[in-house]
Amino acid sequence: MEHSVNARENLERVRAAIAAAEAEAGRESGAVRLVAVSKTKSADEIRPVIEAGQRVFGENRVQEAQSKWPGLKAEAQGIELHLIGPLQSNKTADAVALFDVIQSVDREKIAREIAREIKKQDRHPGLYVQVNTGSEPQKAGIEPEEADAFIAMCRDDLDLKITGLMCIPPVDENPGPHFALLGKIAGKNGIKTLSMGMSDDFETAIGLGATEVRVGSAIFGAR
Ligand SMILES: *Cc1c(COP(=O)(O)O)cnc(C)c1O
Repeated sequence: MEHSVNARENLERVRAAIAAAEAEAGRESGAVRLVAVSKTKSADEIRPVIEAGQRVFGENRVQEAQSKWPGLKAEAQGIELHLIGPLQSNKTADAVALFDVIQSVDREKIAREIAREIKKQDRHPGLYVQVNTGSEPQKAGIEPEEADAFIAMCRDDLDLKITGLMCIPPVDENPGPHFALLGKIAGKNGIKTLSMGMSDDFETAIGLGATEVRVGSAIFGAR
């Protein structure tokens, strides 16, 4: 029980901090959507946050999400589930079937398989391209200098509607320049949704134009 109370309070605190950051940045109230990142958390830990009114959630593993979300979705109206972790090709069909948004379109092979599954299932999740703004070798995402061509390929060759960009800045760097770079790539490509900012830096991201922040530990506690 105690955990539930905390998650609710944490959610309220995060919402207030988002509102304050919007105001400080001179942005419209409600301009930023909160994606509550529930990875590693059980259905029992997630439920109080749904009951507190949160509807948009992020998970980073297809299999884990499959084990929790069909049940939770059946309990509440209007749940919107985002995949924020790398997608393996053997999980593409499951991801297209379960998720409402796939934020981690990060290579041609996956883009092709998503396109095939969208046709096959006639399901149309929102699609964001993940950009590896720090060009970190171990991190998923398209290199920044390849992003324009990749987005064009997705749109023109595969008929995918790319509506957002996502990035995860290097942990040991000032995230500001990474958020600014993502915004610049979005502007060039007519993309409106910017998914950037996590528990430690969502206020910075809001100052640089984030339209979605992905917040886990500040809501659910440490993992
Ligand atoms: C885990 C995760 C988050 C949330 O991180 P916190 O620091 O717990 O807020 C956001 N985005 C992605 C892609 C993640 O994997």
